[in-house]
Amino acid sequence: MKGVGPKLAENLLRMGVERIGDLLCLLPIRYEDRTEIRPLGGLKPGEKVLVEGELELAEVVFRHRRSLLCRISDGTGAIVLRFFHFRKAQQQTLSRGVRLRCFGNVRAGPTGLEMIHPEYKILTAGSEPLTNVMTPIYPTTEGLQQQRLRRLTQQAVDILEHVPLTDYLRDQLPEDWPTLNQALRFLHGPPQGSELDLLLHGTHPCQRRMALEELVAQRLSLRQLNIRRMRSRATPLKDVNKLVPQLRSQLPFVLTSAQETALDDILSDIATVVPMHRLLQGDVGSGKTIVAAIAALVSASAGSQTGFMAPTELLVEQHFSNLCDWLRPLGIEVVRLTGAVMGPARSKVLSSIAAGQAQVVVGTHALFQQGVQFRKLALMIVDEQHRFGVHQRLKLKQKGQKGVLSPHQLVMTATPIPRTLAMIAYADLDCSIIDELPPGRQPVQTAVVPESRRPQLVQRVLAHCRAGRQAYWVCPLIEESEVVDSQAAAEVGRELELALPELAVGLIHGRMRSQEKDTIMRRFKEGGLDLLVATTVIEVGVDATNASLMIIENSERMGLSQLHQLRGRVGRGSEVSSCVLLYKSPLSEVAQQRLRVIRETSDGFLVAQKDLELRGPGEVLGTRQAGIMHLKVADLVRDSDLLPQVIKLSDELLEKYPQRVSPLIRRWTSGATEYAKV
Ligand code: ADP
Ligand code: MG
Repeated sequence: MKGVGPKLAENLLRMGVERIGDLLCLLPIRYEDRTEIRPLGGLKPGEKVLVEGELELAEVVFRHRRSLLCRISDGTGAIVLRFFHFRKAQQQTLSRGVRLRCFGNVRAGPTGLEMIHPEYKILTAGSEPLTNVMTPIYPTTEGLQQQRLRRLTQQAVDILEHVPLTDYLRDQLPEDWPTLNQALRFLHGPPQGSELDLLLHGTHPCQRRMALEELVAQRLSLRQLNIRRMRSRATPLKDVNKLVPQLRSQLPFVLTSAQETALDDILSDIATVVPMHRLLQGDVGSGKTIVAAIAALVSASAGSQTGFMAPTELLVEQHFSNLCDWLRPLGIEVVRLTGAVMGPARSKVLSSIAAGQAQVVVGTHALFQQGVQFRKLALMIVDEQHRFGVHQRLKLKQKGQKGVLSPHQLVMTATPIPRTLAMIAYADLDCSIIDELPPGRQPVQTAVVPESRRPQLVQRVLAHCRAGRQAYWVCPLIEESEVVDSQAAAEVGRELELALPELAVGLIHGRMRSQEKDTIMRRFKEGGLDLLVATTVIEVGVDATNASLMIIENSERMGLSQLHQLRGRVGRGSEVSSCVLLYKSPLSEVAQQRLRVIRETSDGFLVAQKDLELRGPGEVLGTRQAGIMHLKVADLVRDSDLLPQVIKLSDELLEKYPQRVSPLIRRWTSGATEYAKV
C-alpha cells in the first residue's frame, strides 16, 4: 500500500495487521458524527457535536487554573471553548472575528455551555465542505495515529472496490444479511444518517455480520484441532487387572448416576487409540475427583502412568490423601510432587517417576518442570483447569508426547460454562457434565447481611461452634495483592480470637508456606480448630465435612463464580449449612444483582450464566482462557444470541465447503497459533 514504510509496517503488525484484509477486519471501535453542523442554540450537555461560529471573545483567566476561554457564536447561541494547555502562538491565532469549526463534548460550565479542549480548525476560506460519512474511530496503538490509520483504511476500502475479499459465508447466510464486502464498506464509513445508536452498541447488522464470521472462524479453528487430534494416536487404556470393581467395593459410597455417565464417557474414550480430550464439568462438591481417580486407576491397571495436576499445594495435598486412601489398598503407587518436596525426598520421587514405579503422580505445575521425566505417561488430568494457563497445559502434554503418541487428557472445572459458550470457547474438547450432587446434601442457606450486623454474627459463630460444629470466616478482598489480603486476614483473625476466647481459631492465607497451610488445614479437617479465618485461598477444592457455616466479608467485591466456589466449601456433610454474605453499604446496582443471584441460586450453571451476563466472559472462562481467544470484533456477551447460528454455520462449512475453512481461520486468527497446539 502507498505510504507504508518499515516503521509503520511494524506498528501495524503489533496490532495484528499484516495484509490488506487484516486492515479491513480491524473495525472502528466507535463513530463520531461530523456530518452536520449543529446550531449553538440547540445544544445539550453530554452531546458530542460539530459546531461552527465566529470568535467573539478570547481571554486568559486565572480562576482556579490558568485557562484560555474563547467564546464563539453563530447567531442562534454561543458556547465557550476552554483550554488549559495552550501556547502563545496558538493564542495569537485565536483572535476576535475568526471563524472556527469545532468538534467536542458539550458540558455545562460555570457561565453556560462549554467544550474543553475541542478539536478545532480555523476556517480561512469562510467555509469548507463537510464529510458525508460518519467518522470512524479505530483502536490504535502507540506510534500509530488515528488520522493515519483512517487514511490507510480508506485506501484499503478503495482497493476493495476492485478486489473484493472472498466471502466465505456467501452461500449460507440468509438474503437479508449484508455480504462481507457490503459490511466492510459500510463499517469503515457509514453514510450520514446511519443508525449511530446501533453502531455505538455494536449491534448494527453489518457489525453482527462481522462478529458472526469471527466467531465461526474461532469455532472452526478449534474444531480443526479436534480433527487433527483424531488422527494422532494414544495408548489405549483398559482395566486389564480388574481393579475398578475392587475399588468400587471398597468405596464408602456409590457413584451417582451423573458420575457413572461421565465415567462411561471417559473410560470409553481412553480405551481407544485416539487421544481423549475431554472437559469434565461439575458443580462444586459434585464428586469429580473420584471419577478422575477411577480413570487413573484404569491407566495404572493398563501399566501406564497418570499425571494429576492441581493448581495449589493444598489441593494437591487433598487429592494426594484421597488417592492414597482409594488406590493404595489396591497396590497402586501414588506419589506427590510439589515445590515443597525437596532434597532427597524429591530425588526419590523423581526417580520413581522416571522408572515408571510411580503410577499416579499428583502435583502442582511442578509436574511439568525440567527434570521430571515420565516413563510412560498416558493420561493427564488437570483439575480446576481455568486456573492454569494454556501454556502450562501444553507443557504437561509435551511430557507425555513420545514420538507419535499423545497422552489422553481430562480437564476438570467447577466453574460451569454455559453450553453454547463452551461450544465456541472449548470447541476442541468433548464435554461431560456431572449435574447432580451426591445424595443427602442439603442446599446451603445463603443470607445477605450488612456489615453493621457483624457483632451478632460473631455470637452466631460462637453458638455454632459450641454445638460441636466448625465455621469458616473468609476475609476481605482488599486488592489484588496477596500481601495486603493476608495482613487483613491476620488482623481479622486476631480480632476474632480476642472476641471468642473459648474457640480454637486458625488462620490460613496465601502468604503462608505451604507446609504451614497444610498443617492448619489438616487440623481444621480433623476438628482441632473450631473456626478457620481464611483468605480466598480456600476457594478451590478443599473438603471439611463438619464445617457448616461460612461468613464471607466484603462479598460485594467478589465475582459470582468465586462466591459460588467459596460457598461450595460448606454443605459437604449431611447437615444444613449456612453461608452469610457480609457487605459494606452502599451497594452498587450490579453488586445488588450479583448478591441476589447468589442468594437465590445454588445451581452453578445458572450462576455462571449470570456471571457471564453481569461481568463478561473473562470472569467465567478465566481471564487467561478468554484472552487467548483474541476476539477482535465479536463480544461473547453482546453477541451471545449469535452462538447457535455460529455452531450451525461452522458445522455446515466443515461439511459442505471444507476448502473454505482454512482461509477463513487464517483471516481471523493469525496470531493465535499457540492455542492451536494445545
Ligand atoms: P468436586 O467435584 O468439587 O471436586 P469432590 O470430588 O471433592 O468434589 O467431592 C466432594 C466430596 O463428595 C468428597 O468428600 C467426595 O469423597 C464425596 N463424594 C464424591 N462422590 C460421592 C458420592 N457418589 N456419594 C457421596 N459422596 C461422594
Ligand atoms: Mg475438586
